[in-house]
This record gives sequence, structure tokens and C-alpha cells, in this order.
Amino acid sequence: MERRVPAVTCEGLVRIFRTADVEVQALQGLDLHLSAGDLVAVVGASGSGKSTLLNILSGLDAPSAGRARVAGHDLTSMGRRERIAYQRHVVGFVWQQTSRNLLPYLTAAENVTLPLALARAPGGVRRRRVGDLLELLGVADCRDRRPAEMSGGEQQRVALAVALANEPAVLLADEPTGELDEATSAEVFERVRQANAELGVTVLVVTHDETVSEHVDRTVAIRDGRTASEVLRRTEVDEHGAERVVAEEYAVLDRVGRMQLPSDFVGALGLRDRVRLALEPDHIGVWPANRRGGAGVADSGSADPAGSAGAEPAGEPTEAVADE
Ligand code: ADP
Ligand code: MG
Repeated sequence: MERRVPAVTCEGLVRIFRTADVEVQALQGLDLHLSAGDLVAVVGASGSGKSTLLNILSGLDAPSAGRARVAGHDLTSMGRRERIAYQRHVVGFVWQQTSRNLLPYLTAAENVTLPLALARAPGGVRRRRVGDLLELLGVADCRDRRPAEMSGGEQQRVALAVALANEPAVLLADEPTGELDEATSAEVFERVRQANAELGVTVLVVTHDETVSEHVDRTVAIRDGRTASEVLRRTEVDEHGAERVVAEEYAVLDRVGRMQLPSDFVGALGLRDRVRLALEPDHIGVWPANRRGGAGVADSGSADPAGSAGAEPAGEPTEAVADE
């Protein structure tokens, strides 16, 4: 098996915000693993903890508990100096507000040059990198324009060029298409995909835009400050040589074996408080605890989603209570 280099590792990440009278647990033990070169989206409703996660990964905020490592840097023990170098060279970020990404009085080329100048890159490197990145992101024609003279999509693509200027190991983007329409968002996501493929940069995009899953290999859903499920996308070639995209949903299993049942499964069987589990040769069955031998079976789906989907679910509860 190919050995993969870890790029982002979050284990049991917790972030609690305390104000005068309330305590908000924005992250409640979040686990997330990305390997170098991955292209991953984290999706979740507003308030699910996406920005909190990215603020921690970009070194702007510190977790209350848990571990976070990015490209070999331990974010929980980083000193001030290391943090500055980290933000300058190891990660690049793009925010939702276009105004937060670009300086309004500089042209696109000058905006991309700025982080290169701060990193003291030689003149030749600066010119080449600026040209290459604006080209890669399809905004070469915006080179001499200021943000006010560009569309929202162009501004975000220039912002990506700025974020990529110092060749970061990891690109972090928080709702980069939050202010864009659907067609423009698709264009931006495709450029992100291209940057990932051509530069090999690891990408983590967080968004509430579910359409992102069409542009990435892996989509992780976050609910209540934890990763709950993942959709993996791959291209298959059928017997006639035609390509088709297969997307499969998985529940996330953490290190100690916890997983979250989808809320519609829980609702359909009225599951509450506790459930019965039964180990089968190729899957695990989950039954309501209060129903003895009655109807209603849910396959957890975590052991083998493909197998479970094809399995006959009905008529098995008797097996689960056979030991009584
Ligand atoms: P998302 O980006 O997914 O919309 P956030 O990470 O911004 O979610 O927020 C997660 C939760 O944490 C929300 O309930 C939000 O109100 C709360 N929160 C975020 N930042 C702060 C803060 N600085 N102080 C207090 N609560 C916060
Ligand atoms: Mg947010």
C-alpha cells in the first residue's frame, strides 16, 4: 500500500467560547485527517464550527483541548516566531469576504507580489510566480486591475493566487464562494481543483455550499462541532469504456469506535437513548432497544456500506434478541 504523508491531523479538537453568561462549544472533539495532496471539502450548516476549525488551522486561534498538526507543525505548542513563519510559508488562506483577501489600492499583480516581498523572494522569482499563478487561476487579464475593477469571482481567484504565492503546503479556504452565484462558484471551485492537481498543494475548503462535492474527491460533513459523515467520489470506467462518477457516503468512525447515525435513520425508527447492536459476518445491525422482536431494522452502514445497501434488511430482529 502506498504510504501517505499526513498534512492535516485533528484529534479530539475542542473549542469552547465563554462569554459573560453563556458557554458555546463550537468544536466538540473533532477528528479530521488529510494526507499531502488531498482535496477535501468540509461542509456544514451555519454555526456548525467550520470557521472555528479554520481559524485554528491557520494559527489565528488556539483550541481549548485536543491536538492539531499541519505539515509537521504542532499548532497547540507553537510560539510567536514559529506562528509567523507558519502563516507566511506553510499555509495560505482565502476568506469569504473578498475585501479581507485583497488590498483595494493594489492591482492583482501587486497583491500577489506582496506576500512574496514579505518573504524576501528575489525579483525574478516574484515576477515568474505572479505570472504563473494569475495564468493558472485564469485571471491573467486582471493583472493591472484593482479589486474594484474585477468581478467577485475574479477577486476570489486573485485571492487564491495571493494565498498560493509562497508555495504553501496547505491551502485553507473559508467559504471562498459565499458571496458568489452558483455558476461563478463552480468556476472558482474548478480553479481550486486545478491548483491542487498542478501544484500538489493540499486543499481544505469549508463551505455550506453542498455543490462543492462535485469538485472535490472527499466531502466531510460536520455537525455540532464533529465530523459526522463523508462522501468519497471516484471515477469508474465501465465495460464500454465510458467514465462515470461514483459518490458513496460513509459514516465517520473515530479512533475509539464512535459514530453518528444519520438523523433520518434515527427518526425513521424512533431510536432514543440506547440501541441494540449485533455483529453479523459482514455488517453490524442496529435495533431500537425498546422493541422486542418487532419490526424495524437499521443497518449502521459503517462496516460495509456497499454490502449493507444490497443486503436484505427485513426480518432479522429475531436474530438480535435470540440470546434472551
Ligand atoms: P460556521 O463557520 O460553521 O458558521 P463558527 O465556527 O463561526 O460556525 O461558529 C460555531 C459556533 O461558535 C457558533 O455557535 C458561534 O456562534 C460560536 N462562536 C464562534 N466564534 C465565537 C466567538 N468568538 N465568541 C463566542 N462564540 C463564538
Ligand atoms: Mg463560518
